[in-house]
Amino acid sequence: MRSTEDSYLHKGLRKQLVDTIRQKGITDEKVLNAINTIPRHFFLDSAFAKTAYEDRAFPIGEGQTISQPYTVAYQTQLLEVRPFEKVLEIGTGSAYQASVLAELGVALYTIERQKPLFDANKNFAYLKKYHNIKFFYGDGYEGLPTYAPFDKVIITAAAPDVPQKLIDQLKTGGMMVIPVGTGDVQRMMRITKQENGSLKEQVFDNFSFVPMIEGKR
Ligand code: SAH
Repeated sequence: MRSTEDSYLHKGLRKQLVDTIRQKGITDEKVLNAINTIPRHFFLDSAFAKTAYEDRAFPIGEGQTISQPYTVAYQTQLLEVRPFEKVLEIGTGSAYQASVLAELGVALYTIERQKPLFDANKNFAYLKKYHNIKFFYGDGYEGLPTYAPFDKVIITAAAPDVPQKLIDQLKTGGMMVIPVGTGDVQRMMRITKQENGSLKEQVFDNFSFVPMIEGKR
C-alpha cells in the first residue's frame, strides 16, 4: 500500500533531506527544489513512510530499489536539463527519478524492463500530474528508435559498457549520464556527443546501482 497523504511532518523531513544533499555537494537549486516538492514517501510502501526521507535506497519489489535521493540529485545535476528537452530514462523503477525530471519540465520517455514495476506506475495516482512523462515497457538497451533523437539520456542501472544503440539515439551536442561498471561500485560517467561525432567522456564519483539487464521480464 502506498501513502497518499503529505503531512507537515513529511514536508519538514523533506526540507531536512534537501539540506543533507546540499551539504553533500548538490548545488543546482532547480534540482533541490524538485526534491523538496516531490513526496518521496508516495513512491514507497507505507511501511517506509517514516524513513522515506532518509538519504538511502529502499526496496520497491522485484529485487529493485528506489535510488538514494543524493544519487538522483547527482545524476540529474550532471544531466543539465532545460525545459522541453527530450530526455530518455532507462530504468523507471519507482518513477521517482522520472518525477524529478518531470518537475524540471522536460519531455520524459522512460523505459522499464520488469512488467510488475511498469504496471504499478499505471495505477499510481500521483503520477497523473505529470503529463510530460511517457512510460514504456521494454528493454532499455534498445532505447526508443521511434522517438529518437534525444537531447539527454539517463541510465539508472549499472551498465557494463556504454550501450552503442543509446549513443546512436543521442542528438549532436546531447549528453548521457550513466553509471559504468560490473562490480559492486560503478563510476558515474557523462558522455557528450560532439559536433565532429566524437565522444567526450567525463568521469565522476563512484556509486552502487542494481545491474542493467538485457531483455524484458
Ligand atoms: N530510476 C529508478 C531506479 C530504479 S533501479 C527510481 O527512481 O526508482 C533500476 C531499474 O532499472 C530497475 O527497476 C530495473 O528493473 C531497471 N532496468 C534494469 N535493466 C533495464 C533495462 N535493460 N531496460 C529497462 N529497465 C531496466
